[in-house]
Amino acid sequence: MITHHLNDQLLMAYSAGTLPEAFNLVVATHIAVCDECRARLESFDAIGGALIEESVGDALVQMGSDSLAQTLARIKTSTPEPRKRAAAPPPRERVLPEPLRSYIGGGVDNINWRPVGGGVKQAILPTSENATARMLFIPAGAAVPDHGHAGMELTLVLQGAFADGHDRFARGDIEIADEDLHHQPVAEPGLDCICLAATDAPLRFRGLLPRLAQPFLQI
Ligand code: ZN
Ligand code: ZN
Repeated sequence: MITHHLNDQLLMAYSAGTLPEAFNLVVATHIAVCDECRARLESFDAIGGALIEESVGDALVQMGSDSLAQTLARIKTSTPEPRKRAAAPPPRERVLPEPLRSYIGGGVDNINWRPVGGGVKQAILPTSENATARMLFIPAGAAVPDHGHAGMELTLVLQGAFADGHDRFARGDIEIADEDLHHQPVAEPGLDCICLAATDAPLRFRGLLPRLAQPFLQI
């Protein structure tokens, strides 16, 4: 039962293909496990398609027929490649759905974890440089150091659950954090928590130790 979803801005930007790759990956992976957001995305795709058709029609009327070929050529070169869509939702027992699975090259056992302190581990995924995607492993009952955000942070839970003092997030839930949110995610006891997170700016740590370690950890 997913209770925290993508917002309209993220779905629209995903539909328009304007998100950095790291955010694209989080959105696509949420959509792979969330029927509700997949349905909302389809309506944004339909609106986007209608807008493009309308503006193409207007352009043709204004330009006259002799420049039709040029117009079409320009539209052809400016139209982005169709986005790769997440396939049908995977079986629920799989921790890592597509397209995340392909980024990692397999399942949880194939993740190349690095310790970041306190039992928490991370693995940075290869994406374009304007934002960072990472897998996070938070042992059951353990906490990520409390921090604020200089930009946007999307966190998608894939196994277990965490609470951050404001809300509880379980498998499939997505937390959208920005400059206004300061939080300390704590994994629930019982099951280790595995998340996919994307950030477009370094986190702001309150504690001295995490701040000192930050450049080495690329957080
Ligand atoms: Zn959703
Ligand atoms: Zn955060």
